[in-house]
Amino acid sequence: MTMIGDNLQRVRARIAAACRAAGRDAQTVTLLAVSKTWGVDAVREAFAAGQIAFGENYLQEAVDKMAALRDLPLQWHCIGPIQSNKTRLVAGHFDWAHTIDRLKIAQRLSEQRPPELEPLQVCIQVNIDGGPTKSGVAPQAALALVREVAELPHLQVRGLMTIPEPAPDFAAQVAVHARARTLFEQIAAVVGPELDHFDTLSMGMTADLEAAIQAGSTMVRVGTAIFGIRPRP
Ligand SMILES: *Cc1c(COP(=O)(O)O)cnc(C)c1O
Repeated sequence: MTMIGDNLQRVRARIAAACRAAGRDAQTVTLLAVSKTWGVDAVREAFAAGQIAFGENYLQEAVDKMAALRDLPLQWHCIGPIQSNKTRLVAGHFDWAHTIDRLKIAQRLSEQRPPELEPLQVCIQVNIDGGPTKSGVAPQAALALVREVAELPHLQVRGLMTIPEPAPDFAAQVAVHARARTLFEQIAAVVGPELDHFDTLSMGMTADLEAAIQAGSTMVRVGTAIFGIRPRP
């Protein structure tokens, strides 16, 4: 087993333990391997250890990687900010985008999604802890944005995504993730009957995946614990 393969096994064991502690089935949590800054060899190692879904932040880097890995059946998730001049790269290459926080970006993604591809699967990013400089729609505006994005023909709204500030301890991590879970359930109760597959709560990273799973995350985005500490740019 390679180092990345070992690390993946450890992360899967963390997810399984967190699910047991929360009384949840481990099948209800998807692991997204965040491969930003790492090369194609690292992705191939993770694939060899059974990993299919990969998250990327830097769009040109991601598209280059996808081209070099076309021989593998991978699923690509955009988890970085999307400027309007980059929507075509996202619409043309990714399976998922987690960082939708403006209708204008969603409209461009829908218009630019090639018709031969499946609809782009999207999450609405919510600024759950109110950081003033952060991306994400305010919690009270999330339902309206979900409804507007749901009208777009080439997108499918799957749920919410959050990136809370680091919290000092487990209880504080759970508390902030629980706010996202409550919002997700409130919105799902309204739109669930009309929307198929409003089923994804993308939250939790290397440092807080247990707390996120405790609070109800269905997709954890893990980079460092799988690939190592990222080189500083
Ligand atoms: C980089 C990144 C991650 C992974 O973070 P780690 O702490 O390395 O697990 C998850 N989500 C987003 C949005 C990121 O930018």
